[in-house]
Amino acid sequence: MRYSGLRVLWEGLTGNKGWQPAWREPEPKKSYDVIVIGGGGHGLATAYYLSNKFGITNVAVLEKGWLGSGNIGRNTTIIRSNYLLPGNEPFYELSMKLWEGLEQDFNYNAMVSQRGVLNLCHTDAQRDAFARRGNSMRLSGADSELLDQDGVRALYPFLDFDNARFPIKGGLLQKRGGSARHDGVAWGYARGADLRGVDIIQNCEVTGFHIENGVCKGVETTKGAISAKKIAVCVAGSSGRVMAQAGMRLPIESHVLQAFVSEGLKPIIPGVITFGAGHFYISQSDKGGLVFGGDIDGYNSYAQRGNLPVVEDVCESGMALMPMIGRARLLRMWGGVMDMSMDGSPFIDKTHIDGLYFNGGWCYGGFKATPASGYCYAHLLAKDEPHPVATEMRLDRFKRGHMIDEKGAGAQPNLH
Ligand SMILES: Cc1cc2nc3c(=O)[nH]c(=O)nc-3n(C[C@H](O)[C@H](O)[C@H](O)COP(=O)(O)OP(=O)(O)OC[C@H]3O[C@@H](n4cnc5c(N)ncnc54)[C@H](O)[C@@H]3O)c2cc1C
Repeated sequence: MRYSGLRVLWEGLTGNKGWQPAWREPEPKKSYDVIVIGGGGHGLATAYYLSNKFGITNVAVLEKGWLGSGNIGRNTTIIRSNYLLPGNEPFYELSMKLWEGLEQDFNYNAMVSQRGVLNLCHTDAQRDAFARRGNSMRLSGADSELLDQDGVRALYPFLDFDNARFPIKGGLLQKRGGSARHDGVAWGYARGADLRGVDIIQNCEVTGFHIENGVCKGVETTKGAISAKKIAVCVAGSSGRVMAQAGMRLPIESHVLQAFVSEGLKPIIPGVITFGAGHFYISQSDKGGLVFGGDIDGYNSYAQRGNLPVVEDVCESGMALMPMIGRARLLRMWGGVMDMSMDGSPFIDKTHIDGLYFNGGWCYGGFKATPASGYCYAHLLAKDEPHPVATEMRLDRFKRGHMIDEKGAGAQPNLH
């Protein structure tokens, strides 16, 4: 079934009886060409592009919970391609270009909204760093604009420009950045992959790998053993636990990141703003809630809920940036488990075990990467060589000393 305005009209006039489930609920087959472990955004995008762009349709996505139960349904929905380093920026710009055509491509309304992402700067040194980043973005074909204080004031007059500790000096604006409805992205990819024959199997946890003589031949699951020529791990915050089942130790730590939503308010924040003197970012949802977040919790955890000190820390940053936020009531909050790599950049790579592939280390920023991650992982699985924009995202880069040290700020994840 194709979705269209006419279909909505027709169903509205005929009692909405013709809608079909967006994907099937198949039982797993004994064997596949490719098994993707993890039905988050990246796993579903991988299956979608494998079937849609690379012609590999004998694919299963194995998800231990329900689609959208992981970070894909928990993030603050920000999309952007404002990176500095050559190992990252072309990748994120490919992602932005895929976002721009995504809804037409998979025929689903993911509410992609290019409302602009503004990074605020608070010192002269920070403005210089933003100018450098903006220039680097332009060299990769992305858009960027350096705003002075008046430029920021014209967009967001309510910010605390003269804050005694964190005065706002200007900002780096990416107008093509913005937000997208996170669970809609998962559903759109799932539906698109299912239409091309991919089996999406929920409530099916992978509990082990069948590895013989250095070759991965299949997986053990809560629904029985399944064999495959290629196994693609894509489990975000569970990366360490799942890869340990294959005997691998990763340069990744898992930390909780929390998100917050206020009560619904009249439109006040047209785009996405990030505070440059602390860790705080905010936008407003189409329902009116202020959607915001900040730093990760300071210790390792696999719990999908966070602690109160970070709540206080995030709210303090919000108050320093826009004091009026203190009058809004917090409606709800939640946490997701982040796969924090040691240099703040991701991995899309083969492992030393034949047939076993790994995608992870997305840190706070994997939602915006979803389309490019799926595309590049599908490329690697189909051709056994990395996509040109993902050649640096290798597992052995720490051993070789070729980190993609995007933030260059710290040796541990909560300092990135
Ligand atoms: C609060 C919060 C805010 C964020 N904000 C942003 C943002 O604004 N912008 C941005 O770009 N990024 C953001 N992120 C990061 C982004 O959400 C993640 O990097 C990205 O979603 C991770 O990829 P995924 O969607 O595939 O992960 P997930 O949705 O977590 O998918 C992984 C899946 O693997 C499954 N799984 C795990 N173990 C197994 C197993 N053994 N067998 C089978 N399945 C298994 C899990 O159940 C899960 O569904 C945020 C994250 C959080 C938590």
